[in-house]
Amino acid sequence: MSLTPTRIHHLTCATLCPSLRRVPGLVPDQLVAHVLLLETAEGLVLVDSGFGTDDVAQGGRRLGRAFVAGVGPRLDLAQTALHQVRALGHDPADVRHVVLTHLDLDHAGGLADFPDAQVHLHRAELAAALNPRLRERQRYVAAQWEHGPRWQPHDAGGEDWCGFTAVRAVGDDVLLVPLPGHTRGHSGVAVRRPSGGWFLHAGDAYFFHGDKKRPRSCPPGLRSFQVMVQADRTARLVNLERLQELHATRDDVTVFCAHDRAEFLALEGVTD
Ligand SMILES: [Zn+2]
Repeated sequence: MSLTPTRIHHLTCATLCPSLRRVPGLVPDQLVAHVLLLETAEGLVLVDSGFGTDDVAQGGRRLGRAFVAGVGPRLDLAQTALHQVRALGHDPADVRHVVLTHLDLDHAGGLADFPDAQVHLHRAELAAALNPRLRERQRYVAAQWEHGPRWQPHDAGGEDWCGFTAVRAVGDDVLLVPLPGHTRGHSGVAVRRPSGGWFLHAGDAYFFHGDKKRPRSCPPGLRSFQVMVQADRTARLVNLERLQELHATRDDVTVFCAHDRAEFLALEGVTD
């Protein structure tokens, strides 16, 4: 038995329509929440979880008025990871592990739909979410983990992965790659592809496909948003440069972020 991914599905577990889209060119019309579903011989693994059935059932109330008004989530049960796992013919109870880039409300909402899964994340992220500073209180929604997830916090350090320091999260082929900046313990998740090479789910280390290129491009409203919500500006920009370097130099690594729709559409139909 092995935890090596044998098949990878790309799901979006949210659709976000920011209010600023009404001003042409300021932000993209639509953002996604890119989630991976990995099939392994020992069960299923989710990378990030998007919004969950409780977020949808409560009509977004627990997400907060400011978030709903500004970010514009279109809450749809069919988009939750729970429903998509079922639609693919799987039993949600077979989801044994959830690996999170971070605990922001648009990434952690699905946790309660998989209450028996082990939840892997950076130790610093769990510490931030459980004891948020004043300005972090809006981004973390404690109700999303009031069921008591089986947290598996990972410390930084470990081994080299493409010049980054990674730590094995699930088996040998799903790695947590610390990329702090957006939040205190934000991480990417590297997944070995069955067809060869790697995916790097970079979470919210950047928001727009042009961010990972040199010269960088990003609609101005989205660029300002990234600054507004960053926990550590210096760390974020250092990690963005490292991701640009990775994207430019490693053909065997496909880098994508959580919210860019173009990156998602390019991978949605890819069978691994
Ligand atoms: Zn996000």
